[in-house]
Amino acid sequence: MNTRPVKIIAIGDELLEGRTVDSNSQRIQRALGGHGVQVALIQVVPDTPSAVSAALDRTEPGDIVFVSGGLGSTPDDMTREAVAKWAGVALAEDTAVRQRLEDRWRRRGRKVGVGIGKQCQVPAGMAAVTNPVGSAPGLVGVLRERRVIMLPGVPAELAGLLPLAIDWLAGDGALPAAQPHLVRRTAQIAELALEKRCRPVQAEFPDLRWSWWLSDWGVDLRVAGADERELAAAGRRLDALLGALVYGRGPLTLPEVVQERMLKAGTTLSVAESCTAGLLGGALTAAAGSSGFFRGGLLVYADQVKEELLGVPREILQEFGAVSEETVRAMAEGCRQRVGTDYALAVSGISGPGGGTVDKPVGTTWIAVATPAQVHAGCYRFPADRYRNRLLTVASALDVMRRVLEFGDEQPPWASGDTWCRP
Ligand code: ATP
Ligand code: MG
Repeated sequence: MNTRPVKIIAIGDELLEGRTVDSNSQRIQRALGGHGVQVALIQVVPDTPSAVSAALDRTEPGDIVFVSGGLGSTPDDMTREAVAKWAGVALAEDTAVRQRLEDRWRRRGRKVGVGIGKQCQVPAGMAAVTNPVGSAPGLVGVLRERRVIMLPGVPAELAGLLPLAIDWLAGDGALPAAQPHLVRRTAQIAELALEKRCRPVQAEFPDLRWSWWLSDWGVDLRVAGADERELAAAGRRLDALLGALVYGRGPLTLPEVVQERMLKAGTTLSVAESCTAGLLGGALTAAAGSSGFFRGGLLVYADQVKEELLGVPREILQEFGAVSEETVRAMAEGCRQRVGTDYALAVSGISGPGGGTVDKPVGTTWIAVATPAQVHAGCYRFPADRYRNRLLTVASALDVMRRVLEFGDEQPPWASGDTWCRP
């Protein structure tokens, strides 16, 4: 395909010092991937006009150039000025932008700040694109024969403006039309194991483009291709092959899928957390509307607290230990009864790096879900470090809940085959 080279300039000292990961470039890459376009160059540069200018010098006429960061109102935000100077054009106030920003401040009942003046400045030849999330508008236009797109550094603001910037490029004929694609979002399986499962379908459809990536909840899979019928056929084969591993086919995250199903069924949930100590409740309440199903939970890290707050019998804790089927069952049951919910999730595991034994190595984690009819309990062996083991615990517990809601109580909610689950 004959597309124009896309180059990204990510501006920020924090990106170079390792304080912040450059997720904005990744977001731009993914958005362009939907059009079958691969980024040619990413430059991460410090917050100085000379560095921005040098990075722009590394682009060429005909390029599409994304610039992220430094569009705010503080003195260290100098992207507009640096780009205008490099292009040899003047900055001028855009009165429509000023009007929108002043309205925005007034709607919030705040005095219009002085910083607003800076955010109204637009380089000659560029147009402002209203920011659906924050204040600083995006800026798009052709400068020195490059299509330049300037976006704010705040990831949520960049994400909000990105589709509008892409529309501008597509409308201008600079991007190929979005490619047909399908997405499958999976949980409870490692990237390599998932890729292996997909191999037979990959071999059957060699013209399709496959990609896998890790999310906080599992592994997402994307398949793209020009032929929609071929894509649909591959989708059917994949669904037959992956079965219950797939929790989503659209933009919803795993907690959002659980929330959607809970709200639809009109049921309630509580959590009893040992090793994750609140992360599970945090994930379940990240999306607006969580109060419609989530009642609360207990953070029961120490054995004594499991006993006192959840009524886990001391004998069970002494005989089987905190990381055991018996304990996690008692936690789920106790939580369901004491909080008074339809369902309760309980987790107890050894996240590491210490605490492992021969019988229960680091990563051993028990997850239980109490339903109105019974308690399911399953054992996992997570393979990672403390940080990821805790994330994997959260994701697996959410997926266990999703499976119970999707397939009912009769089917055990555990992933089979080459997964971390050892039921
Ligand atoms: P603000 O109005 O907040 O100043 P800005 O457009 O000037 O926005 P920056 O000041 O560069 O943007 O960055 C704002 C925030 O966004 C910072 O917390 C920064 O760490 C984060 N950020 C900037 N660039 C990136 C990036 N490439 N990836 C992820 N986060 C980023
Ligand atoms: Mg800033």
